[in-house]
Amino acid sequence: MPTQSLTDPLFSHPALDGPLSVLKRIYGYSAFRGRQAEVVSHVVSGGDAVVLFPTGAGKSLCFQVPALCRPGVGVVVSPLIALMRDQVEALKGLGVKAAALNSTLSREEYVEIRRALDRGELDFLYVTPERTATPGFIEMMQGVEIALFAIDEAHCVSQWGHDFRPEYRELGKLADLFPGVPRLALTATADPHTREDIIARLRLDEAQVFTTSFDRPNIAYEIVERDQPRQQLLRFLSRHKGSSGIVYCLSRAKVEEIASWLDDQGIRALPYHAGMDRAIRDANQDAFLKEEDLCLVATVAFGMGIDKPNVRYVAHLDLPGSVEAYYQETGRAGRDGLPSEVWMAYGMADVIQRGRMIDEGGAADDIKRVERAKLNALLAICETPGCRRQAILKHFGESHPGQCGNCDTCLKPVETWDGAEAAIKALAAIYRTGERFGTGHLIDVLTGNENDKTIRFGHTDMPVFGAGKDLPAKTWQSVYRQLLAAGYIRVDHTAYGALTLEESARAVFKREVDVRFRKDRPTTGKAARGQSSRTAQAKAGLDQADQELFEALRAKRMELAKEQGVPPYV
Ligand code: ADP
Ligand code: MG
Repeated sequence: MPTQSLTDPLFSHPALDGPLSVLKRIYGYSAFRGRQAEVVSHVVSGGDAVVLFPTGAGKSLCFQVPALCRPGVGVVVSPLIALMRDQVEALKGLGVKAAALNSTLSREEYVEIRRALDRGELDFLYVTPERTATPGFIEMMQGVEIALFAIDEAHCVSQWGHDFRPEYRELGKLADLFPGVPRLALTATADPHTREDIIARLRLDEAQVFTTSFDRPNIAYEIVERDQPRQQLLRFLSRHKGSSGIVYCLSRAKVEEIASWLDDQGIRALPYHAGMDRAIRDANQDAFLKEEDLCLVATVAFGMGIDKPNVRYVAHLDLPGSVEAYYQETGRAGRDGLPSEVWMAYGMADVIQRGRMIDEGGAADDIKRVERAKLNALLAICETPGCRRQAILKHFGESHPGQCGNCDTCLKPVETWDGAEAAIKALAAIYRTGERFGTGHLIDVLTGNENDKTIRFGHTDMPVFGAGKDLPAKTWQSVYRQLLAAGYIRVDHTAYGALTLEESARAVFKREVDVRFRKDRPTTGKAARGQSSRTAQAKAGLDQADQELFEALRAKRMELAKEQGVPPYV
């Protein structure tokens, strides 16, 4: 096939059914978006491509249109049966011949697919990664004309990605097995590690890499310290009456609890997790896709490949496992480009729990190290006193010009304080007590709390005992979280969550580094109530702070909506 470009007059001639004509005729769209046209043109002329576009950018068309323009069947590797099903149904709806090969097929269906393949009648064949590299599949594809291979959700090839699937590694073999057939890898995860892994593992060194900015300007980020999670969630949801969104929880039990609690509070909410009865789960997903004022409470099992454009909010009640996961999950908001809000409440307990999941998981040591690094990267975003958007984009190797002006830290800048003294005290408490205790006990030591444990271990006699009386326990919690985020300490899960010192802590002791902590916003929670004399004041402070932030967010949304000429979602 001669090399052609989109601008070639012959190529765009409708009789030849060039990309633009396919786009209009089959999909009914008038123009390609962003860099779609470039990818399509490159692949139609036989090139390999790595496509790194954010969620909602329209990656599917990047392989579907070229497959329809080239002779032969387009083979699409996709990690989830549900995802394959959706795409195959959508293609069939457009009058395109598509089929999916997966374990749920009957013998008859399988025979039917093979027959269509042999006759060259199929436009698309969707397959799972498990099947793609098998001798059966390779044998089946012998003599069949293949338009291209598309490897969707390609981050699954990398342990740096958030859905690592070992079977994806086998896909590199396609290069040798089917030489000359263009291959595309597509994903919305583009941190440098994942990107390198995709290129190396899928043997795409010759491929052209297409990226666009990962910024999602219509998404406003907010991360708060978890204090009274249910009340905090309720307040967040009260800003989104009448619109749909997702609330992510870590465990299935919590999903059920929160969904039924929200329902009791008069918010229409349905649960979704992998442990539910299949039929109910599918019904809940359908309800979410169709209805406009539903809160879906879900584990991360929900979402990949879900294309609901008007998800107005995403809330996290637990810390995700990595920045990539956070970005993907929050990225499900606002696919229609309209202003949307994402919100997360997190605390030290999350860090301990996530860390324990890593340490107690069966992974090899190097993978555990990677996982810990990923957790710390997310923690750093949670604890940043700077712009959240900048911090997130920086993680993906991108810079954002100036502060975004639309996230919680931009709208209400966090104050910082000189933490040199406090850091030394916090680290000393760890060191003096032998790096064997968790935050609760360390804070008891610092604040001079004489209890069974501090007395039994003889910690009441140490100079560090009571050395941190000047600050409330809550501040010490925050100090430890920030020391963790900055990598000066780590949690040892083999020792029941004991905090231990990292090599870098030495510089803090020697005052060689500048340590500044972010000042936590006042809260109504347990800690604030603990300081009884100031309860009313703290409470008023919170309500006001909350109100101000809300007003600022609302103003920003109005402004964005006006700019885009759409009704604001407030
Ligand atoms: P991704 O895989 O990148 O997350 P999808 O391929 O699922 O995104 O596309 C997201 C949505 O955008 C879909 O509803 C799709 O039909 C729509 N879309 C993609 N490209 C175009 C286009 N050129 N014009 C209009 N709509 C488009
Ligand atoms: Mg996709």
